Amino acid sequence: MKIVSGMRPTGRLHLGHYFGVIKNWLKLEDQHQCYFFIADWHALTNKYKDTKNLQEDIKQMIIDWLACGINPEKSTLFIQSGVKEHAELSLLFSMITPKSWLELNPSYKDLKFNLYYQYLRDFLLGKQIKIIQTPPPKPFKEALKEADGKSKSKIFEEYLREIFHRAFYSQKGIDFKGLKETLLKFGLNKKIVEEAVKNLEEGDVGKDIDTLGFLAYPVLQAADILIYKAEAVPVGEDQLPHIELTREIARRFNSLYEQIFPEPEAMLTEEAKLPGLDGRKMSKSYNNAIYLSDEEQIVNEKVLSMKTDPQRIRKTDKGNPDVCPVFDYHKIFTDDSTRADIDKKCRNAEIGCVDCKKILAKNLNRFLEPIREKRKEIEKDLDKYYQIFIEGTKKAHLEASQNMKKVRKAMNLFNIE
Ligand code: SF4
Repeated sequence: MKIVSGMRPTGRLHLGHYFGVIKNWLKLEDQHQCYFFIADWHALTNKYKDTKNLQEDIKQMIIDWLACGINPEKSTLFIQSGVKEHAELSLLFSMITPKSWLELNPSYKDLKFNLYYQYLRDFLLGKQIKIIQTPPPKPFKEALKEADGKSKSKIFEEYLREIFHRAFYSQKGIDFKGLKETLLKFGLNKKIVEEAVKNLEEGDVGKDIDTLGFLAYPVLQAADILIYKAEAVPVGEDQLPHIELTREIARRFNSLYEQIFPEPEAMLTEEAKLPGLDGRKMSKSYNNAIYLSDEEQIVNEKVLSMKTDPQRIRKTDKGNPDVCPVFDYHKIFTDDSTRADIDKKCRNAEIGCVDCKKILAKNLNRFLEPIREKRKEIEKDLDKYYQIFIEGTKKAHLEASQNMKKVRKAMNLFNIE
């Protein structure tokens, strides 16, 4: 099967990228004809203001892909902006894509939701002391009392998310007034709530993505996929609406002009649960990531700083591995019998968190060491490895330009090549 998948260049890859994407690619390239690309145009959809690190980010991505073992003998590796036909096809698709398909695209709305919500949460949690001191209303208070294995801020986040969800997805657009009133009902400090909501309503949050490029990026994605007539795309659950949109665009094109594009299937990727150091999703922007290139000492320090079971304050407290991010890592990096032993000892307060983390750091470093070594080897002769991507880009271009000729012909456009 022909498969296309890309990654935005965001700098060095972290473990979340490895277990969310790369591990799957390594499997796929053994069984399918794969096209993997660095999506530098997509990086511009929300980072167009500052592109000074773009080349460096692309370089780091090249190094990481190859150091992880992505094999140019098996897959075509290329850089999106080197194949201009992606942009041409995206333009042509934009002519036939109703605007409402994009505005209703749930991931566009969800991304906006996340940006706004993150701002609100960080602002309010930044003033956490005042929030906790303010007497909360009954249900919130009960939840705090019953908090089992969750920190107070986690409980607060859950409530806040629910409140904001209601305000954001209200039929009238974002209901800022309702949001403010509900937050005040929850007993939060009036001045802080007013400031947070005012900033959301009048500030710059989310403004960076109010662009045509951002709204239309699923159209560019459709072009990235269809220009190679891909039959399948590996995706996480949150990306499913984009694939559906790609299929709809393919259908529309085929029915308007000529049967050129297949309707690609979504290949659901199973993601291992690997939270960031603070228990949230691992992300560069949260500053909570372990990078594939982190040196041994850095990994040791990062693992020691990881959040654990929040209820376990002293070594003599019994712990609960089910709510501990460190244990999520043991599930991946530690062998079964050692992990079972840690589980038992943690629950009986027979192992301290520092010792538990030291075991993890050792195992994690064992996993990362070959990648670090390979990275160093690549860095010594970077031009040679860049060449792999130049060749891959030429190969992708050849195929894309042949397919574009068919598209231009089907649409009765001027064929320059
Ligand atoms: S002993 Fe390990 S699994 Fe248990 S709470 Fe501490 S870090 Fe988590």
